[in-house]
Amino acid sequence: MKTVIVTGAARGIGLATTKQFLDQGWRVVMVDRDEPALEQAALGLVGVDPVVCDVSQPDQVAQMAAHVMATSESVDALVNNAGVADFGPIAETDFARWRTVMETNLDGVFLTSQALREGLCAARGAIVNIASISGLRASTLRVAYGTSKAAVKHLTQQQAAELGEFGVRANCVCPGPVATKLAMAVHSPAIIAAYHDAIPLNRYGTEDEIASMITFLCSEKASYVTGQIIAVDGGFESTGIGLP
Ligand code: NAD
Repeated sequence: MKTVIVTGAARGIGLATTKQFLDQGWRVVMVDRDEPALEQAALGLVGVDPVVCDVSQPDQVAQMAAHVMATSESVDALVNNAGVADFGPIAETDFARWRTVMETNLDGVFLTSQALREGLCAARGAIVNIASISGLRASTLRVAYGTSKAAVKHLTQQQAAELGEFGVRANCVCPGPVATKLAMAVHSPAIIAAYHDAIPLNRYGTEDEIASMITFLCSEKASYVTGQIIAVDGGFESTGIGLP
Protein backbone atom coordinates (compact mmCIF):
# COMPACT_ATOMS: atom_id res chain seq x y z
CA MET A 1 0.00 0.00 0.00
CA LYS A 2 1.32 3.45 -0.91
CA THR A 3 1.92 5.98 1.86
CA VAL A 4 1.50 9.75 1.60
CA ILE A 5 2.33 12.31 4.27
CA VAL A 6 -0.11 15.23 4.26
CA THR A 7 0.76 18.21 6.46
CA GLY A 8 -1.96 20.47 7.80
CA ALA A 9 -4.31 17.51 7.51
CA ALA A 10 -6.64 18.34 10.42
CA ARG A 11 -8.98 20.52 8.38
CA GLY A 12 -9.56 22.43 5.15
CA ILE A 13 -7.67 21.46 2.01
CA GLY A 14 -5.45 18.99 3.91
CA LEU A 15 -8.40 17.02 5.26
CA ALA A 16 -10.12 16.92 1.86
CA THR A 17 -6.84 15.70 0.35
CA THR A 18 -6.53 13.01 3.02
CA LYS A 19 -10.01 11.70 2.20
CA GLN A 20 -9.34 11.60 -1.55
CA PHE A 21 -6.11 9.65 -1.01
CA LEU A 22 -7.99 7.18 1.23
CA ASP A 23 -10.66 6.75 -1.47
CA GLN A 24 -7.85 5.95 -3.92
CA GLY A 25 -6.41 3.25 -1.64
CA TRP A 26 -3.48 5.12 -0.13
CA ARG A 27 -2.40 5.06 3.52
CA VAL A 28 -2.21 8.62 4.87
CA VAL A 29 0.07 9.97 7.60
CA MET A 30 -1.93 12.99 8.78
CA VAL A 31 0.43 15.62 10.20
CA ASP A 32 -0.82 18.66 12.10
CA ARG A 33 0.22 20.73 15.13
CA ASP A 34 -3.37 21.10 16.39
CA GLU A 35 -3.74 17.90 18.42
CA PRO A 36 -7.46 18.12 19.32
CA ALA A 37 -8.40 19.01 15.74
CA LEU A 38 -6.22 16.21 14.38
CA GLU A 39 -7.77 13.63 16.72
CA GLN A 40 -11.25 14.79 15.75
CA ALA A 41 -10.43 14.72 12.02
CA ALA A 42 -8.93 11.22 12.17
CA LEU A 43 -11.95 9.75 14.01
CA GLY A 44 -13.62 7.16 11.80
CA LEU A 45 -11.05 7.40 9.01
CA VAL A 46 -9.63 3.97 8.15
CA GLY A 47 -6.03 3.84 6.91
CA VAL A 48 -4.68 6.96 8.63
CA ASP A 49 -1.82 7.52 11.06
CA PRO A 50 -2.27 10.88 12.80
CA VAL A 51 1.01 12.45 13.95
CA VAL A 52 1.18 15.66 15.98
CA CYS A 53 4.01 17.78 14.62
CA ASP A 54 4.71 21.47 14.11
CA VAL A 55 6.42 21.55 10.72
CA SER A 56 8.27 24.74 11.59
CA GLN A 57 10.20 22.97 14.37
CA PRO A 58 13.24 20.98 13.15
CA ASP A 59 13.24 18.56 16.12
CA GLN A 60 9.56 17.72 15.72
CA VAL A 61 9.97 17.22 11.97
CA ALA A 62 12.95 14.91 12.54
CA GLN A 63 10.87 12.84 14.98
CA MET A 64 7.93 12.71 12.60
CA ALA A 65 10.18 11.61 9.73
CA ALA A 66 11.85 8.92 11.84
CA HIS A 67 8.39 7.60 12.80
CA VAL A 68 7.27 7.60 9.15
CA MET A 69 10.41 5.80 8.00
CA ALA A 70 10.04 3.17 10.75
CA THR A 71 6.35 2.48 10.15
CA SER A 72 5.88 2.81 6.37
CA GLU A 73 6.66 0.24 3.69
CA SER A 74 7.57 3.16 1.43
CA VAL A 75 7.33 6.95 1.35
CA ASP A 76 5.52 7.50 -1.92
CA ALA A 77 4.38 11.10 -1.62
CA LEU A 78 4.64 14.21 0.53
CA VAL A 79 2.03 16.98 0.40
CA ASN A 80 3.30 20.16 2.05
CA ASN A 81 -0.02 21.81 2.76
CA ALA A 82 0.31 23.22 6.30
CA GLY A 83 0.14 26.98 6.14
CA VAL A 84 -0.77 30.14 7.97
CA ALA A 85 -2.15 33.38 6.53
CA ASP A 86 -1.37 36.91 7.62
CA PHE A 87 -2.57 39.79 5.47
CA GLY A 88 -0.80 43.07 6.15
CA PRO A 89 1.23 45.74 4.35
CA ILE A 90 4.95 46.33 4.90
CA ALA A 91 4.36 49.15 7.40
CA GLU A 92 2.30 46.95 9.70
CA THR A 93 4.23 43.68 9.42
CA ASP A 94 6.73 43.60 12.24
CA PHE A 95 9.54 41.06 12.22
CA ALA A 96 7.73 38.64 14.54
CA ARG A 97 4.73 38.47 12.18
CA TRP A 98 7.05 38.05 9.19
CA ARG A 99 8.95 35.20 10.87
CA THR A 100 5.77 33.41 11.99
CA VAL A 101 4.61 33.22 8.38
CA MET A 102 8.01 32.19 7.02
CA GLU A 103 8.53 29.54 9.69
CA THR A 104 5.46 27.53 8.72
CA ASN A 105 4.95 28.39 5.05
CA LEU A 106 8.56 28.21 3.89
CA ASP A 107 10.79 26.64 6.57
CA GLY A 108 8.19 23.90 7.08
CA VAL A 109 8.32 22.87 3.41
CA PHE A 110 12.11 22.80 3.45
CA LEU A 111 12.31 20.81 6.70
CA THR A 112 9.80 18.07 5.86
CA SER A 113 11.15 17.60 2.34
CA GLN A 114 14.70 17.36 3.62
CA ALA A 115 13.80 14.98 6.44
CA LEU A 116 11.84 12.65 4.13
CA ARG A 117 14.20 12.97 1.17
CA GLU A 118 15.77 9.55 1.54
CA GLY A 119 12.44 7.75 1.69
CA LEU A 120 11.05 9.71 -1.24
CA CYS A 121 14.13 8.92 -3.34
CA ALA A 122 13.97 5.22 -2.47
CA ALA A 123 10.32 5.09 -3.60
CA ARG A 124 10.77 7.42 -6.61
CA GLY A 125 8.04 9.43 -4.95
CA ALA A 126 6.27 12.75 -5.48
CA ILE A 127 6.27 16.07 -3.65
CA VAL A 128 3.39 18.53 -3.95
CA ASN A 129 3.86 21.90 -2.29
CA ILE A 130 0.86 24.16 -1.74
CA ALA A 131 1.61 27.79 -2.53
CA SER A 132 -1.11 30.30 -3.53
CA ILE A 133 -2.18 32.74 -6.20
CA SER A 134 -0.79 35.26 -3.67
CA GLY A 135 2.65 33.92 -4.60
CA LEU A 136 2.03 34.44 -8.32
CA ARG A 137 1.18 38.15 -8.25
CA ALA A 138 2.05 40.90 -5.80
CA SER A 139 -0.63 42.88 -3.99
CA THR A 140 -0.76 45.65 -1.42
CA LEU A 141 -1.76 43.43 1.49
CA ARG A 142 0.34 40.31 1.54
CA VAL A 143 3.98 41.13 2.06
CA ALA A 144 4.76 38.12 4.26
CA TYR A 145 2.19 35.62 2.97
CA GLY A 146 2.76 36.40 -0.72
CA THR A 147 6.54 36.36 -0.35
CA SER A 148 6.47 33.04 1.52
CA LYS A 149 4.35 31.47 -1.22
CA ALA A 150 6.53 32.85 -4.03
CA ALA A 151 9.50 31.24 -2.28
CA VAL A 152 7.64 27.91 -2.12
CA LYS A 153 7.31 28.00 -5.92
CA HIS A 154 11.05 28.38 -6.31
CA LEU A 155 11.79 25.75 -3.68
CA THR A 156 9.58 23.36 -5.68
CA GLN A 157 11.66 23.95 -8.80
CA GLN A 158 14.87 23.44 -6.82
CA GLN A 159 13.47 20.12 -5.60
CA ALA A 160 12.48 19.09 -9.13
CA ALA A 161 15.93 20.00 -10.45
CA GLU A 162 17.83 18.24 -7.69
CA LEU A 163 15.72 15.14 -7.08
CA GLY A 164 14.76 14.32 -10.66
CA GLU A 165 17.76 12.04 -11.04
CA PHE A 166 16.28 9.87 -8.28
CA GLY A 167 12.90 9.72 -10.02
CA VAL A 168 11.31 12.13 -7.55
CA ARG A 169 8.83 14.60 -9.06
CA ALA A 170 8.07 17.94 -7.36
CA ASN A 171 5.17 20.21 -8.31
CA CYS A 172 3.48 23.24 -6.81
CA VAL A 173 -0.26 23.90 -6.61
CA CYS A 174 -1.42 27.51 -6.27
CA PRO A 175 -5.03 27.56 -5.07
CA GLY A 176 -7.33 30.49 -5.59
CA PRO A 177 -9.61 31.39 -2.68
CA VAL A 178 -11.32 28.54 -0.82
CA ALA A 179 -13.64 29.31 2.12
CA THR A 180 -11.61 27.56 4.82
CA LYS A 181 -10.88 28.78 8.35
CA LEU A 182 -7.55 30.20 7.15
CA ALA A 183 -9.11 32.24 4.36
CA MET A 184 -12.17 33.43 6.23
CA ALA A 185 -9.95 34.87 8.98
CA VAL A 186 -8.36 37.29 6.50
CA HIS A 187 -10.94 37.79 3.72
CA SER A 188 -13.03 40.90 4.43
CA PRO A 189 -16.43 41.31 2.70
CA ALA A 190 -14.69 43.67 0.25
CA ILE A 191 -12.05 41.05 -0.59
CA ILE A 192 -14.71 38.36 -1.06
CA ALA A 193 -16.68 40.57 -3.46
CA ALA A 194 -13.54 41.56 -5.38
CA TYR A 195 -12.53 37.91 -5.80
CA HIS A 196 -15.92 37.04 -7.23
CA ASP A 197 -15.51 39.82 -9.82
CA ALA A 198 -11.88 38.96 -10.64
CA ILE A 199 -12.34 35.21 -11.08
CA PRO A 200 -13.74 34.18 -14.50
CA LEU A 201 -15.80 31.40 -12.86
CA ASN A 202 -17.13 34.05 -10.40
CA ARG A 203 -16.82 31.91 -7.29
CA TYR A 204 -14.49 30.51 -4.65
CA GLY A 205 -13.08 27.04 -5.18
CA THR A 206 -13.78 24.07 -2.95
CA GLU A 207 -11.37 22.01 -0.86
CA ASP A 208 -12.11 19.02 -3.10
CA GLU A 209 -11.25 20.92 -6.28
CA ILE A 210 -7.78 21.63 -4.89
CA ALA A 211 -7.40 18.09 -3.52
CA SER A 212 -8.17 16.61 -6.97
CA MET A 213 -5.16 18.35 -8.48
CA ILE A 214 -2.94 17.30 -5.56
CA THR A 215 -3.88 13.62 -5.80
CA PHE A 216 -3.53 13.69 -9.58
CA LEU A 217 0.01 15.08 -9.30
CA CYS A 218 0.93 12.27 -6.87
CA SER A 219 -0.49 9.60 -9.17
CA GLU A 220 1.08 7.60 -11.98
CA LYS A 221 -1.07 9.63 -14.39
CA ALA A 222 1.31 12.55 -13.76
CA SER A 223 4.47 10.46 -14.21
CA TYR A 224 6.09 12.96 -16.63
CA VAL A 225 5.02 16.12 -14.81
CA THR A 226 7.61 17.81 -12.61
CA GLY A 227 8.80 21.31 -11.75
CA GLN A 228 5.39 22.78 -12.58
CA ILE A 229 3.53 25.65 -10.92
CA ILE A 230 -0.17 24.98 -11.40
CA ALA A 231 -2.90 27.49 -10.52
CA VAL A 232 -6.24 25.96 -9.49
CA ASP A 233 -8.08 29.24 -9.30
CA GLY A 234 -11.17 29.44 -11.50
CA GLY A 235 -9.10 31.23 -14.13
CA PHE A 236 -7.99 34.13 -11.91
CA GLU A 237 -4.36 33.96 -12.97
CA SER A 238 -5.30 33.96 -16.65
CA THR A 239 -6.74 37.48 -16.39
CA GLY A 240 -4.88 40.72 -15.77
CA ILE A 241 -7.19 41.77 -12.97
CA GLY A 242 -5.26 42.68 -9.80
CA LEU A 243 -5.30 40.71 -6.57
CA PRO A 244 -7.89 42.28 -4.26
P1 NAD B 1 -6.75 25.71 7.23
O1 NAD B 1 -6.41 26.77 8.23
O2 NAD B 1 -8.15 25.28 7.09
O3 NAD B 1 -5.83 24.42 7.50
C1 NAD B 1 -4.46 24.54 7.73
C2 NAD B 1 -4.01 23.42 8.65
O4 NAD B 1 -2.58 23.56 8.81
C3 NAD B 1 -4.62 23.52 10.07
O5 NAD B 1 -5.12 22.27 10.47
C4 NAD B 1 -3.44 23.97 10.94
O6 NAD B 1 -3.51 23.48 12.28
C5 NAD B 1 -2.26 23.35 10.17
N1 NAD B 1 -1.00 24.04 10.46
C6 NAD B 1 -0.73 25.36 10.42
N2 NAD B 1 0.53 25.60 10.76
C7 NAD B 1 1.10 24.39 11.02
C8 NAD B 1 2.40 23.99 11.42
N3 NAD B 1 3.37 24.89 11.64
N4 NAD B 1 2.64 22.67 11.59
C9 NAD B 1 1.66 21.75 11.37
N5 NAD B 1 0.40 22.08 11.01
C10 NAD B 1 0.13 23.39 10.84
O7 NAD B 1 -6.16 26.25 5.85
P2 NAD B 1 -6.41 25.85 4.31
O8 NAD B 1 -7.13 26.98 3.70
O9 NAD B 1 -6.91 24.47 4.18
O10 NAD B 1 -4.90 25.98 3.78
C11 NAD B 1 -4.12 24.88 3.36
C12 NAD B 1 -3.00 25.44 2.47
O11 NAD B 1 -3.57 26.04 1.31
C13 NAD B 1 -2.14 26.51 3.14
O12 NAD B 1 -0.80 26.33 2.79
C14 NAD B 1 -2.68 27.80 2.53
O13 NAD B 1 -1.72 28.84 2.55
C15 NAD B 1 -3.02 27.32 1.14
N6 NAD B 1 -3.97 28.17 0.44
C16 NAD B 1 -5.23 28.35 0.92
C17 NAD B 1 -6.10 29.18 0.24
C18 NAD B 1 -7.50 29.43 0.73
O14 NAD B 1 -8.14 30.35 0.21
N7 NAD B 1 -8.01 28.68 1.67
C19 NAD B 1 -5.69 29.83 -0.93
C20 NAD B 1 -4.40 29.63 -1.38
C21 NAD B 1 -3.55 28.80 -0.70
